[in-house]
Amino acid sequence: MLSKIPTISDKRLAVRVKPAAERALKDGHPWLFEEAITKLSGDGRSGDLAVIFDRKKRFLAVGLYDPDSSIRVRVLQHSQSAVINQDWLQAKIEAAARLRAPLPAARTTAYRLVHGENDGLPGLVIDRYDNTYVIKLYTAAWVVHLRAALAALTAVANPYRVVLRLSRGAVRQKTNLHGLQNGAILQGVPLDGPVRFMENGLIFEADVARGQKTGFFLDQRENRARVEELAKDKSVLNVFAYTGGFSLYAARGGAKSVLSLDSSHPALNAAVRNFDLNPALSPVRHPMLKGDAFEKLAELRENGRSYDMIIIDPPSFAKSRAEVDGALAAYARLVRLGLGVLEPGGTFVMASCSSRVATDDFFSLVYRTAREEKRALREIERTAHPLDHPIGFKEGTYLKCLFAIAS
Ligand code: SAH
Repeated sequence: MLSKIPTISDKRLAVRVKPAAERALKDGHPWLFEEAITKLSGDGRSGDLAVIFDRKKRFLAVGLYDPDSSIRVRVLQHSQSAVINQDWLQAKIEAAARLRAPLPAARTTAYRLVHGENDGLPGLVIDRYDNTYVIKLYTAAWVVHLRAALAALTAVANPYRVVLRLSRGAVRQKTNLHGLQNGAILQGVPLDGPVRFMENGLIFEADVARGQKTGFFLDQRENRARVEELAKDKSVLNVFAYTGGFSLYAARGGAKSVLSLDSSHPALNAAVRNFDLNPALSPVRHPMLKGDAFEKLAELRENGRSYDMIIIDPPSFAKSRAEVDGALAAYARLVRLGLGVLEPGGTFVMASCSSRVATDDFFSLVYRTAREEKRALREIERTAHPLDHPIGFKEGTYLKCLFAIAS
């Protein structure tokens, strides 16, 4: 499959940019936008290496050229030139692996090994699920470098299997995919179903070929562990439950019952299987509820249902700047609906994974909405990114989560 991919051209593009972009690149920003380019030395192809110069023709950065994206160059290295090959990629992956070394390897076999821009490899994510690795490309510009990336990953991690995932944006760049498909096996044994792994001693499965993200929301691991600590003797409602991540932790933490609510049937089926993989949790009642969160929360309230703990971990409502107001309105509705089924003194947990929604705006909105509902929130803590999802640039901040007690 990789044999159809053309080899990288030796030709490097020369790029000149506007002063504002020059400053941003000097500050280490990893993106160069199309409109910031003033001069380009030729017709760039997807994945060509582009060398960016300042007004005095001094080297600024080298990166991947992407003719199909408004992010026209993704910077691989700032301030000094580099040969981008397997050795270079390997050094980057090794550095990323070193950063993850403190993770408790004996009880956690799944984590993000490479977090794109934030690990110096813009548009490239590598997640580990036990001995299966998933390479996710956010742009087809990586395709011509995939052989080198795969060899580098093999040298660092010796994976049993490597699966390719493509973002929606990358799938649209069809002509530059050279036949590669989302979910393809790049190396090793074909998948015979979901992959099993361990997180903090709990066993989970993930559909790495078709599941959301790369199959599991690895970024919520520490928040899930926090929920476990807070769940004892509580009736718990987990909204946007996906495959039951928070639910299993709540059950292990001694919850009385855990209701998992999600609109995705396959996700809830996987949640049932995840409970089955951990027989010690079976005494805890763990029903599933399929449906739209907004409708079901209103229905639960109408039926007089209430819980001692609610977890609300919605998808990113704001994929673009234009959607931010709508996202804030949706978060506010969820706060109201969530508090509507939360017992006085109940534990309120809410996360946002939208980088477009600023951290402070999110927390203020949650507090303000609670006040309007005459429910004061007493903060337990607010959390940000876990170790394996480092923040390398401003736009890299996305995850925020509030733990509070509601009056
Ligand atoms: N908390 C999860 C991840 C949540 S991802 C974890 O720790 O693994 C967001 C989930 O919201 C997805 O499973 C998606 O199927 C679900 N979803 C999206 N829109 C929804 C809606 N309107 N109502 C209910 N669930 C929804």
